[in-house]
Amino acid sequence: MIVALAGGVGAARMLRGLAQVLPAEDIVTIVNTGDDEMIHGLHVSPDLDTVMYTLAGLADDQRGWGLAGETWNVMEYLEELGGETWFRLGDKDLATHLYRTGRLSQGAPLSQVTAELAARLGVPARLLPMTDDEVRTRVRLSSGEEVSFQHYFVRLSHDVAISAVRFHGIDEARPAPGVMEALAHAGAVIICPSNPVVSIGPILAIEGVRAFLADHRGRVVAVSPLIAGKALKGPADRMLVELGGEASVVEVARTYADVAGTLVIDETDREQADLVEGAGCRAVVARAVMHDLRSAELLARAVLDAAGYAYSTPGPR
Ligand code: GDP
Ligand code: CA
Repeated sequence: MIVALAGGVGAARMLRGLAQVLPAEDIVTIVNTGDDEMIHGLHVSPDLDTVMYTLAGLADDQRGWGLAGETWNVMEYLEELGGETWFRLGDKDLATHLYRTGRLSQGAPLSQVTAELAARLGVPARLLPMTDDEVRTRVRLSSGEEVSFQHYFVRLSHDVAISAVRFHGIDEARPAPGVMEALAHAGAVIICPSNPVVSIGPILAIEGVRAFLADHRGRVVAVSPLIAGKALKGPADRMLVELGGEASVVEVARTYADVAGTLVIDETDREQADLVEGAGCRAVVARAVMHDLRSAELLARAVLDAAGYAYSTPGPR
């Protein structure tokens, strides 16, 4: 059994590849909930939904969030009413949020609600929110103003410089049921190519997670979300620079060196392998861009090999 630490889109692509290689029951995914936010009184969990919809084969891969084949009747009418529509929610997607919010208000923990939704959507792999407690990522803009993560990411299109990130509630948050147990039983832990600051950062900050991984870093393999100094999507490259680092695989290695023995980097970053090793991670070079299912599967195989994780499904190399 392996454990994957996941944010949204980068993680979903990696997980689709892993699901080609391993039986679903051998994959436990721990998902960031720092991006969660109340929108129109509904509990939205963007990273959980991206992973869930992708693994269910229901995601809109072009848009990068939400469901394929959506309609937008509610948003259009909300706009007519003069409501706020900067955070777009499709009609079907809204049903997910109604279900989640309804169950949470009945007292069900997020981990339970997530399991119910995943089962209903036919997602075979286990999805665990990092915590059932409320953690909210807050972003300080260079203007000094502090905003919610979705305000920064969606409303401002992450088109502004930032000076700090913090995870409100993280000190009181406890790992969700199953999180520490899964880590304890994992033959390998994969840190998906998600944003190191705002997607993986909150998971590592949950009580006990960083310390556990540090003690087992030989089994932990991270995959760089940066390719040739750039994020394929989103602000990871800029965030690393704005927070005082650089946009490179070396910076990713510095970020993860205490918890991951190995960093998988793309072929285009091959010349940086020595610097990655100098920063404290063994460097493994692979094709790390997942254009399609096939390239995701090949990357998954490279990652599992790098972790020394034996799997039985044979396949092309
Ligand atoms: P978000 O929560 O939807 O923004 O998604 P994540 O945090 O999971 O992922 C964002 C990161 O995924 C970005 O920094 C991208 O560079 C990275 N990413 C997306 N696709 C790929 C890919 O095919 N390969 C690699 N290595 N990284 C990717
Ligand atoms: Ca996210």
